[in-house]
Amino acid sequence: MLQSISKNIISVENRIKNVVTQNGMLHRVSYPKLIAVSKKQPEEKIDECLASGQRVFGENRVQEAQKRWKHLRAEYQDLTLHLIGPLQTNKAADAVALFDVIEVVDRAKLAKILAAEMERQNRHLPCFVQVNTGEEPQKAGVMPGEVDEFIRFCREDCGLDVVGLMCIPPADEEAAMHFALLREMAKRNDLPELSMGMSSDFEEAIAFGATSVRVGSAIFGAREQHL
Ligand SMILES: *Cc1c(COP(=O)(O)O)cnc(C)c1O
Repeated sequence: MLQSISKNIISVENRIKNVVTQNGMLHRVSYPKLIAVSKKQPEEKIDECLASGQRVFGENRVQEAQKRWKHLRAEYQDLTLHLIGPLQTNKAADAVALFDVIEVVDRAKLAKILAAEMERQNRHLPCFVQVNTGEEPQKAGVMPGEVDEFIRFCREDCGLDVVGLMCIPPADEEAAMHFALLREMAKRNDLPELSMGMSSDFEEAIAFGATSVRVGSAIFGAREQHL
């Protein structure tokens, strides 16, 4: 098992490097960052992932992440934890205390509360604005038509350190047009970071300029449903 997870990481890292090379992107300042999405994975697999040297992880639930990572933080001081799932305002304080990057800023009320918490805790975390590129009613994220104003609001009115945009394309559509749209929105707002691409499409996302990819099952295998 140990071998399989470190093998998977090496394989994903190699695929990332290959896309960068094949697309003539070697001028990039750095390779896209691999965020290992550890949600709903058993502890043994996380341990194996840590043992293989991976330090950047993504979680989509605050409580689950607290249980798993609070004690590991003491042991691994170079961890970087990304919150990649919808955040309720009543969990904002816990999220600011635990995570290093908040990828899911998507509404004014949340932006304000996050900003106040960061001030209170003196933890000014980099943030991503999540965009609902497919305008799906059930999905989180700012609508594309509201992105520019929302980014301005987060930066100027709330003082959040917005570094980039994040999206989860609709499952049943070509991801490429969503990646292209996100890139365009980031560019016109002078945002350097793009969090896009998962196990099934991270190579394509990188070709469209992803600076970080969020990969779960390609590293850990299928998630346990009961967790
Ligand atoms: C679960 C999840 C991922 C990882 O998905 P895989 O298909 O397992 O790679 C990436 N991003 C978000 C926001 C997720 O919730």
